[in-house]
Amino acid sequence: MDRTPLISGNWKMNLNHFEAIQLVQKLSYELRNHDYDAVEVSLHPPYTDLRSVQTVIDADRMRFQLGAQNCHSEVSGAFTGEISPAMLAKLDVDYVIVGHSERRALFGENDEIVATKAAAVLAHDMTPIVCVGETLDERESGQEATIVEAQVVGSLKFIEGEKLDGVVIAYEPVWAIGTGVTASAEDAQDMCSHIRSVVGSIRRESIDLIRIQYGGSVNPANAGELMAMPDIDGALVGGAALQADSFARIVNFKDA
Ligand code: PEP
Repeated sequence: MDRTPLISGNWKMNLNHFEAIQLVQKLSYELRNHDYDAVEVSLHPPYTDLRSVQTVIDADRMRFQLGAQNCHSEVSGAFTGEISPAMLAKLDVDYVIVGHSERRALFGENDEIVATKAAAVLAHDMTPIVCVGETLDERESGQEATIVEAQVVGSLKFIEGEKLDGVVIAYEPVWAIGTGVTASAEDAQDMCSHIRSVVGSIRRESIDLIRIQYGGSVNPANAGELMAMPDIDGALVGGAALQADSFARIVNFKDA
């Protein structure tokens, strides 16, 4: 089954809107048309940069997809400090990360909240990138498959029918995020294959269609090996997405 890999740059809380524009321009300079033929590339700046990045992408007809890092599930209302999916859709956002482990750990998001956000993103014709992954303790005690399975089932529970086919899942072991320690390609493949079969048990038709990214200290040196795995359809990249040259080398991992 041919699934176009999705390489996503999660900038987290880094870069103001001037720096964001510079990074997008440098990145665009580093990439060639054939790079975008092989993969989709989404950029996830902080909220305050979205309009600037969107304007640059549109004006220069760049082939980046615009992404957000989070959103609220309601369309509008008394939710001080929150951003609604309708607002993101109006900015031509394509992909929204939901349930990143930093949001789960630092902002109290559980599967129920993540499921509500994922459904809201889809309801506004954007694609959720639903993050799941076990902690080091959970892996060391042999619970990783059960934990990740429960996260997948819980986080996708409000997504109906064929909408599931287009969802992206990011398998991000928490112990690999921002640590420089990457899961081995074999371990990442095993978990992504497990996730695919869990998705298949929710909806059989989605099994070959849903895309599953790996995330956790992806860099230009390990991207090729990870993405050569049959059930890994791209990468969610944090630190290495903040420099144009390293992110570009991850995007064109096939040329390495
Ligand atoms: C992330 O932010 O989702 C991530 C995987 O970060 P890093 O690549 O820095 O580990």
